Amino acid sequence: MKITKIEIFKLNLPFKLSWKIPLGVIDKAANVVIKISTDKGIMGWGEGSPFSQITGDSQATNIETAKHLAAIVMGKNPLAIETRMAEINVLYLAEPSIRSAFDMAFYDILGKSAQLPLYALLGGEKRQLRTDFTIGMQDTVDQTLVELDNLLSMGFDAIKMKVGRSGLQDVAHVKAVRDKVGDDILIKIDSNQGWGYQTACANLKAMESLNIQYSEQPIAAWDYENLARLRQRVAMPICVDESVFDDHDAIKLIQLGAADYFNIKLGKSGGIHTALRINAVAQAAGNKCMIGCFAESRLALSACAHLACARPNIEFIDLDSGYLFSQDPVIGGMQSGQGGLITLPDAAGLGAEFDESFLEWVHTEQRA
Ligand SMILES: [Mg+2]
Repeated sequence: MKITKIEIFKLNLPFKLSWKIPLGVIDKAANVVIKISTDKGIMGWGEGSPFSQITGDSQATNIETAKHLAAIVMGKNPLAIETRMAEINVLYLAEPSIRSAFDMAFYDILGKSAQLPLYALLGGEKRQLRTDFTIGMQDTVDQTLVELDNLLSMGFDAIKMKVGRSGLQDVAHVKAVRDKVGDDILIKIDSNQGWGYQTACANLKAMESLNIQYSEQPIAAWDYENLARLRQRVAMPICVDESVFDDHDAIKLIQLGAADYFNIKLGKSGGIHTALRINAVAQAAGNKCMIGCFAESRLALSACAHLACARPNIEFIDLDSGYLFSQDPVIGGMQSGQGGLITLPDAAGLGAEFDESFLEWVHTEQRA
């Protein structure tokens, strides 16, 4: 099989909700979509959702990189993912979002070629996945409780609260939510690097009685030593997100004893190929993983859900961006149901494709 055409599109859609986090506000999707055609008539879709504050890339840089990558892989075999991703990853240490889009399209083609849904292709079995839903950083506790009511009315039983305010301000927000929901609802907190080491110690100790599942990325991404110190000092498990992009990061974090859990995002790892390696490293060390997202549509979220079904060590599911879209540009794929229940189709590959009327064409690379 050979790649004969690669089309690059923008996907720009506003959200009906927005999330404030210590790194900024997420209120729209400005994604890049890749469509790869082959000489066997099989086509693959991929999507990346750059978030520059974390991934260091943007829609504009992803598009320029995509043009280069399209020229590199043109005419080659998309099923040889090990080789294709080695070619791509040696060229770009950065640009993980667009590397992920290419990787996703290759896996989509591989699944369609094998006539298997992606989770089955990866040796997995369908299991019940249920995503949490995120509450952004509100200014007042009352506003946090309004957000909570919205989320409970949608039937969610797991909440991720964005924190990272100064001093001990976060404690009142988290305590108010726990007091309101009782102990039946799971609560995680995510600081997105917003605290310093001392503030993190003080907050996590103050929240010790609030039955929090884990603290995600409490301090700066680069500060592995203090993550390890923090983990020694507090009882709450520590999950890393911005600290872990790939399998090399995962090994270092394990060696330092800096994390209990790893948040895998395809937009950080550069796709499924490296995500599988992160999970393998984590599982070997006895660490559970989480699968998270940026502002992906249901197409890239489908890839995430397939991966989670394929690897039960990916225990925590944070795939809620699909709920934010004001319009749904995806046909088929993962369905986000009431209360966060995720249903995967049995169609081959990702089982999802874009409605092209939502896409803005940018560039076509075609074999002469
Ligand atoms: Mg996070």
